[in-house]
Amino acid sequence: MSSKDYYQLLGIPRSAGAEEIKKAYRKLALKYHPDRCSGSPAAEEKFKELSEAYEVLSDPAKRATYDQFGYEGLKGRGFGFHDPFDIFREFFGAGFGGGVFEDIFNFGQPRRPSARRGRDLEFELELDLAEVYTGVEKTIPVVRSEACPRCGGSGSEPGSPRRNCPDCGGRGQVRAAAGFFSVVQACRRCRGEGTVITDPCGQCRGSGLTEKKKKIRLRVPPGVEEGMVLRKRGEGEASPRGGRSGDLLVYIRVRPHKFFRRSGDDIYCRIPVSFPAAALGTEVEVATLDGRKSLKIPAGTQSGQMFRLRGKGIPRLNGTGRGDQHIEVVAETPTALNSEQLELLRRLEETLTDSNRPRSSGFIGRLKEKLFSAEKGR
Ligand SMILES: [Zn+2]
Ligand SMILES: [Zn+2]
Repeated sequence: MSSKDYYQLLGIPRSAGAEEIKKAYRKLALKYHPDRCSGSPAAEEKFKELSEAYEVLSDPAKRATYDQFGYEGLKGRGFGFHDPFDIFREFFGAGFGGGVFEDIFNFGQPRRPSARRGRDLEFELELDLAEVYTGVEKTIPVVRSEACPRCGGSGSEPGSPRRNCPDCGGRGQVRAAAGFFSVVQACRRCRGEGTVITDPCGQCRGSGLTEKKKKIRLRVPPGVEEGMVLRKRGEGEASPRGGRSGDLLVYIRVRPHKFFRRSGDDIYCRIPVSFPAAALGTEVEVATLDGRKSLKIPAGTQSGQMFRLRGKGIPRLNGTGRGDQHIEVVAETPTALNSEQLELLRRLEETLTDSNRPRSSGFIGRLKEKLFSAEKGR
């Protein structure tokens, strides 16, 4: 057991505050995460040390013990460390909502196991907005470990029993000296199980697992959002010897739509209307996720004015109705006019008065007032 300098590991002073500790860990953990270092053992070791450092320094009780008694003191007081990958996940948030993971890591690669539960499998599922709207059933292809059919997951050749572990005498634990203290640890040889395999299974060579391709059906409810994680319990990898299987985590991505933009459960879009039509009023057909709907544009509609189709947005995930669709009307300035059209527009322009121009009359009015008061002030 080495005595580690956690402050040095994170590159921070001993006086560092909670924010500084977090920042240092965030930066270094992302840098040394094994998924980003193509599994380099040195990087993995560094990653583990970083998570240990973060775990200790971010916990006031552990930090105080460490500051006073050092690494040995920490061990002696029975503080244990968590799985570095669990700490990493916890740190970057449940569901990794911010999209940090999607940007940085390859999905579909199984992560290292934590304790005895089988590994979780991860899959990235890309959906159209239309699928989000209706909900959809998908088939997820996975390659996962399952219990070996020959030994039933035991890892032992059928008929040959396991025997007591010679290192720990079947207790699964060993005592180790740590400075002035003696610490109970899980036995390394049998990984705390107390028994070892005498005759490894001929098919799985003692691992108890075989690889299998599977197709897993997944029901995606309407209303899911980019960055959400759907979890299918027990559809991950089998646990080596008897533990619970891992889960299948499905990360939702939503392809950008060419016409609609989503914000919360509302949908936004923009439709062009000819400038005379906006002036005269009209009725237009608007595409919604639920088919085309007609929308009345009243006379005198300004470019940029918003209209709403109630209940034409995304279904709420909790099943309580739908969002709305918001439509921005854009009045189109006509181009490529022929001489007759130009003449009509010129004549129109000549007849326009301030009262026909709601925006600029207000604007010019305010401008005149300002100039006038400025002149009076001189
Ligand atoms: Zn043992
Ligand atoms: Zn086997």
